[in-house]
Amino acid sequence: MLKRCGRRLLLALAGALLACLLVLTADPPPPPVPAERGRRALRSLAGPSGVAPAPGLEAAAAPGALVREVHSLSEYFSLLTRSRRDAGPPPGSVPRPAAGHPRPPAEPLTPHDVFIAVKTTKKFHRARLDLLLETWISRHKEMTYIFTDGEDAALARRTGNVVNTNCSAAHSRQALSCKMAVEYDRFIESGRKWFCHVDDDNYVNVRALLRLLASYPHTQDIYLGKPSLDRPIQATERVSESKVRPVHFWFATGGAGFCISRGLALKMSPWASGGHFMSTAERIRLPDDCTIGYIVEALLGVPLIRSGLFHSHLENLQQVPTSELHEQVTLSYGMFENKRNAVHIKGPFSVEADPSRFRSIHCHLYPDTPWCPHTAIF
Ligand code: UDP
Ligand code: MN
Repeated sequence: MLKRCGRRLLLALAGALLACLLVLTADPPPPPVPAERGRRALRSLAGPSGVAPAPGLEAAAAPGALVREVHSLSEYFSLLTRSRRDAGPPPGSVPRPAAGHPRPPAEPLTPHDVFIAVKTTKKFHRARLDLLLETWISRHKEMTYIFTDGEDAALARRTGNVVNTNCSAAHSRQALSCKMAVEYDRFIESGRKWFCHVDDDNYVNVRALLRLLASYPHTQDIYLGKPSLDRPIQATERVSESKVRPVHFWFATGGAGFCISRGLALKMSPWASGGHFMSTAERIRLPDDCTIGYIVEALLGVPLIRSGLFHSHLENLQQVPTSELHEQVTLSYGMFENKRNAVHIKGPFSVEADPSRFRSIHCHLYPDTPWCPHTAIF
């Protein structure tokens, strides 16, 4: 009798286990198209489809890494919860790290330990880059490298660290990935501890950046930034000539800037160094910043650490409190929901004289700058 009961119990348990397994390994329903915040993200996702994978990619893939599919239910949810745990405030909300607990320093860091890549294009040298050279870059020339697509003697006279990538001057997926590939290679060559990428409409508060990076060991796998989507991006990964499969991952939007530790950057090498970044980008047919997220999260299994201290013009910059400006790592300006979007800061320059507010921010952070009005009250 006892024996029969035991057998029945075992059978029931096995049945329940099988049912659980079936639920856990089933593909999740495809998430709806992510709610995009801003025209850049929309444009980014609208690339042409059906591009064949570039030759050489399969050979470059590290064994075992590409078989990591992110489409089982359990893995998908572990990805979500992991990102939420690391996250702090949800994307788009106003972060208040100062009110929380700033991370303790992990290692001392000097400006020379950080490689900041600024992506630009020849037509923006005067329109955007001059403002950066006048403001934040002027204080940090040794750590800032400008990646562009055309010769400019006037620019070369202002800073020695100009890299002509010889990439096309178009805003196409391929041209942007071409620049990111050169940025990555130059960082690896530099031997520095941290790689940070920003656009030419970003203000980098280097003191805050160093504080943030110093709180992580550069030898560990660290990918820091802010997503522009409110859920992982859903992409199609080409695994062979005839096979594609879905893949989900978070990525830090390039327009807010992001940073990668040397430890992680070295692991990215099979998919990012030499010509491999371009072929990896073709594999998912997404722009440069998404490709970084794909390599880090989907291929290497390293989760993005979200930081509310990075800001792009895909968010409402008016919401960044003036009292917390000195803690923000990056700021931006541009358009948001068809309106001019910039940080709110009083003086010393009017909105007409300083529409991006970068000059006013710079005087707020470095009041000893010669061109800052000395009578300014903040
Ligand atoms: N950019 C580029 N080539 C282009 C156009 C833009 O390299 O043909 C760079 C630009 O300098 C900036 C970044 O791409 O660093 C994003 O461009 P933008 O701010 O104009 O567009 P967004 O994507 O932010 O809407
Ligand atoms: Mn922009």
